[in-house]
Amino acid sequence: CGIVGYVGAAAPSQRPLEVVLGGLGRLEYRGYDSAGVALVTPQGIASAKRAGKLTNLLDDLTEHPLPPATAAIGHTRWATHGAPNDVNAHPHLAGDVAVIHNGIIENFAALRTELEADGAAFASETDTEVVAHLLAAAYDGSLTEAMRAVVGRLEGAFTLLAVHASEPGTVVGARRNSPLVVGLGDGENYLGSDVAAFIAHTSTALELGQDEIVTISAESVTVTDAAGAPVTPREFTVDWDA
Ligand code: GLU
Repeated sequence: CGIVGYVGAAAPSQRPLEVVLGGLGRLEYRGYDSAGVALVTPQGIASAKRAGKLTNLLDDLTEHPLPPATAAIGHTRWATHGAPNDVNAHPHLAGDVAVIHNGIIENFAALRTELEADGAAFASETDTEVVAHLLAAAYDGSLTEAMRAVVGRLEGAFTLLAVHASEPGTVVGARRNSPLVVGLGDGENYLGSDVAAFIAHTSTALELGQDEIVTISAESVTVTDAAGAPVTPREFTVDWDA
């Protein structure tokens, strides 16, 4: 239901987790049943997720702290496929990939059957988990290109964010029939399902169009269309006294 992404300085720190948790707090007004985060750390992807309020996730993170990170994604879930429990909470992981998702993947059942026939082991009952397995299988050195290939196979509505352990300074997003905005920082950049995700840090934002794919790093934001052609997104100033 709510989505936040962050990339900052190259040195791993607690800031990616702090920014993402702050954004999830500001997205709480939308309602949700579970919350989770994934971090890109020098040791690989680290994640935590819990059914219930954000405080459940925060308690878990206090008990089991995650290592410093360079990038992070965070999610609050409004369950559509699979009960609201810890396992079905996002992020969903496969190989070196972590994914969060708002919306519904209409053709997930056929994709899941195909992936399971290829040996993928599913942990959850969600429609979202197919995206994690598809990205892990499609990954060939570029998370952006893997995302482009995968969204070409999806039907339905989605805002997706993904990270990969081999790309510590990157978060990739995609959207169809579901919102995704970019927040422009100074040496750090943000993604959100709405501007509340990053309003505490910047009021300069980019609007993404239908079927566009965005790749953020600390210093760059690259937007491309479904065919891979570069797109110049519309920049706007968030006029909202948060
Ligand atoms: N369909 C996904 C699920 O049930 C995402 C729900 C959402 O938008 O939070 O896990």
